[in-house]
Amino acid sequence: MAKSKVLIVGGTGYLGKRVVKASLANGHDTYILQRPEIGVDIEKVEMLISFKMQGAHLVTASFDDHRSLVDAVKRVDIVICAISGVHIRSHHILLQLKLVDAIKEAGNVKRFLPSEFGTDPARMKNAMGPGRVTFDDKMVVRKAIEEAGIPFTYVSANCFAGYFLGGLCQIGHILPSRDSVVLLGDGNQKAIYVDEDDIATYTIKAIDDPRTLNKTLYLRPPQNILSQREVVQIWEKLIGKKLKKSTLSKEEFLAPMKDLEYAEQVGLCHYYHVCYEGCLANFEIGEEGEEASKLYPEVNYTAVENYMKRYL
Ligand code: NDP
Repeated sequence: MAKSKVLIVGGTGYLGKRVVKASLANGHDTYILQRPEIGVDIEKVEMLISFKMQGAHLVTASFDDHRSLVDAVKRVDIVICAISGVHIRSHHILLQLKLVDAIKEAGNVKRFLPSEFGTDPARMKNAMGPGRVTFDDKMVVRKAIEEAGIPFTYVSANCFAGYFLGGLCQIGHILPSRDSVVLLGDGNQKAIYVDEDDIATYTIKAIDDPRTLNKTLYLRPPQNILSQREVVQIWEKLIGKKLKKSTLSKEEFLAPMKDLEYAEQVGLCHYYHVCYEGCLANFEIGEEGEEASKLYPEVNYTAVENYMKRYL
């Protein structure tokens, strides 16, 4: 059977570039949206050219030009969007409404995977502001997709390993200390950590799988469902040394909120829900979802201990 043609939007991004690589590695005819607005961003241009040399097709289209988006999506079967959605970098989740309009008009797309790749926004109806903007915007996009009758898969990827493991689950850190760590609350809430390359691999596996049609795919690699204390223990074993530990109550964690920049406030809220409330692992996956490591046991995902060896 011919492999489906895939368009990746946001293909030069932190996650998007990995999705491009996974799509090429899986033998899909891979198209990448090339936005004229990137102008003289030499690193993006260089990355796009390198993907072209590996066999990808570059398709010029702009979010400011509806026709160009329609023409781009008409060339493929599947659209994956990895547009930005982290305020400390940039947040353009609602721009996807233009992509939804284009997909609806084109009428040929068999599956759309919007830029999600985090906490399941459908479970965050009571989330704290201003961080809830991420979930609210992703739900606005979901509503538009479903009202347009576009077949979809939502990927709930939980914690990107680079952000959470790198910093031993501490906000504002992406490299692990060899001296000390602040435990959030009792440090015992479970979270789920996924190597970004594995997120891309599972995403590409799901795109034409009938089992993930109109469902949420939750990434829960069983060995990577760990508390902050367990992550710290793994790191301590790797460096052969115990870290000095202090703890931070939820009140102490939230107290600096009002003095922070907006983007930092959003991040603080997200860490709060993950590390103090355990929002990623405190529910069973229901009828509306599937779990990736069960669907694709052949994926040799990176366990936390192996991931953390890169910091030695
Ligand atoms: P990036 O910040 O790397 O941005 C991705 C792409 O968005 C860019 O490469 C660019 O695409 C596109 N983009 C940026 N600005 C604009 C604009 N003005 N107009 C059009 N396109 C634009 O994104 P991430 O990889 O960090 O995030 C991707 C997804 O992953 C988001 O949904 C985010 O919420 C989620 N995420 C989840 C995390 C977790 O721990 N669960 C952590 C980080 C992200 P182009 O290639 O066209 O230039």
